[in-house]
Amino acid sequence: MNKLYYLVFILGMIILFGSCREDEPQDPIVEYCPSGDLRSLHTTLGNPSNAETSEAMPNNYLIEMDEYTISYNESRGIPNWVAWHLSKEWIDGDGNRQDDFRANPFLPAGWNSPNSDSYSGSGFDRGHNCPSADRLCSDNFNSATFFMTNMVPQAPNNNQEVWKYWECYLRELVDQGNELYVYMGNYGVGGDGFFGYREVITDGDINVTVPESIWKVAIAIPENDGDDINAITTQSTVIAIDIPNSENVSFFDWDDATFITTVDEIESRMGNGFDLFSNLPTNIQNTLEAQTHVRDPSFTPCW
Ligand code: MN
Ligand code: MN
Repeated sequence: MNKLYYLVFILGMIILFGSCREDEPQDPIVEYCPSGDLRSLHTTLGNPSNAETSEAMPNNYLIEMDEYTISYNESRGIPNWVAWHLSKEWIDGDGNRQDDFRANPFLPAGWNSPNSDSYSGSGFDRGHNCPSADRLCSDNFNSATFFMTNMVPQAPNNNQEVWKYWECYLRELVDQGNELYVYMGNYGVGGDGFFGYREVITDGDINVTVPESIWKVAIAIPENDGDDINAITTQSTVIAIDIPNSENVSFFDWDDATFITTVDEIESRMGNGFDLFSNLPTNIQNTLEAQTHVRDPSFTPCW
């Protein structure tokens, strides 16, 4: 009998010990953001203006970061374009919106470089190119979207309504199992802000051009671990939107017929040989760049 109690006791201890070990909290190490040197990722499909990190090219100055890539225009005080890769890894995670708008410390000294207050009182929002909500994988990655070199003066209705829903639609494409390459840019001079028409915002020595129109192009491919260029076919989804920088844009209709356009059309409006998707084979580029997107009605709207 004693022997049996002894055995049961030992067995019990083993089970208890084993289950205790199993119950110990085990924090899995989750690396939310993509890792490694990501600086060339964002322009996988090409550098549309052949921007260079050269002080001799202040109006087409390349800034490559892990979070996104910019061509900065020193005269305009805004980017020509911003490019970024978008997938679940960039959105999921424990990052929060940082709201730490600030001058970009990586610009050469003495350059026209807007700071957090430069748009104050202008009637235009500090409109993100690479959105804060596209970089929520960590606080540090989110913070990088608040460099003023990632902003354009954007009419509040454009930024907070039509543009917001359009950005959200792209994140829905990610939720549906896609990864995206996104380019955002602008052209022209003069927009209609909260206080009316304006061409330039002046803040001391700082001058910021108010763009006339703001565009964004996205290509979606099924999420994969391989070569993204090879994953792109003539059947891939391409969406090109160009929206006037104005308060008079309708509430949520980012796919309004007047805003939906083609990549070819945006290339021509940008001028100067601007060439999106230049790293794609010519036949695929030609087909995709003539596409006009039809919004998928099965998607849950974001508003
Ligand atoms: Mn083209
Ligand atoms: Mn092209």
